[in-house]
Amino acid sequence: MPVLEVKDIEKSFGTLQVLKKIDFSLEKGETLAIIGSSGSGKTTLLRCLNFLERPDRGKIIVNHEVIFDAADPVTRRDSELRKKRLHFGLVFQNFNLFPQYTVLKNVTLALELLARERPDYKQRKKAILEEIREKGRNLLAQVGLSDKLDYYPHMISGGQQQRVAIARALALEPDILCFDEPTSALDPELTGEVLKVIRNLAERHTTMIIVTHEMDFARDVADRVIFMDGGVIVEQGSPEEVFGNPREERTKQFLARYK
Ligand code: ADP
Repeated sequence: MPVLEVKDIEKSFGTLQVLKKIDFSLEKGETLAIIGSSGSGKTTLLRCLNFLERPDRGKIIVNHEVIFDAADPVTRRDSELRKKRLHFGLVFQNFNLFPQYTVLKNVTLALELLARERPDYKQRKKAILEEIREKGRNLLAQVGLSDKLDYYPHMISGGQQQRVAIARALALEPDILCFDEPTSALDPELTGEVLKVIRNLAERHTTMIIVTHEMDFARDVADRVIFMDGGVIVEQGSPEEVFGNPREERTKQFLARYK
């Protein structure tokens, strides 16, 4: 059963068309890697899925529910998009942690804000907040940061910050967790610890979309691979197909650069 269906998404900035007829689906528990040269539209695609950009055309369907249809004015409303965004978690290139909050607070903040809308919040506030902190501690244990709960982002390494960002994205239990080049801002010696966390998530069948330049990692961890060039999906398939036996000339040329 597909958890995500993307149908004919298109996006332009002014006269520049950045995404053209993007069409793919993703099964629950699968990891999808999106590869392609810089400027091919990978980040814009992730931003469209998270509604940080609004697609000009096309549909986005999550668990068989049309959460966005460019032709339907209701699903295009900002208030609707804010709700629908919760289907997706996003881990950015540059971590984007809140510098003024501790590691634990970075992970729990969104949950605390959401909890305020619960009808029993006033009566059970203390217990609810403790449950949220417990969840935060568990998530941080999962990414190996139990000893950093009270640190501030500037006190920990980039790799650790990115692991906090992953725990924060997981806190909201998104249907699909998206990563935009999660290791590209890290020194080489710190990429391994972040890739290990993502690999663990893949082994636990977290549904993920990863934009990455780490070809060996993509080949190893992804269930499916999309190669983009010039705003179109040039080729998609299993890692064996795309990396081992690419059909398209553009894919071959791109992969040759990583040999
Ligand atoms: P990638 O992630 O594959 O490097 P991007 O999605 O970042 O590609 O960019 C695709 C194209 O869209 C590039 O030509 C980029 O300059 C352009 N682009 C991205 N965001 C904007 C924007 N907000 N305004 C104008 N052009 C943009």
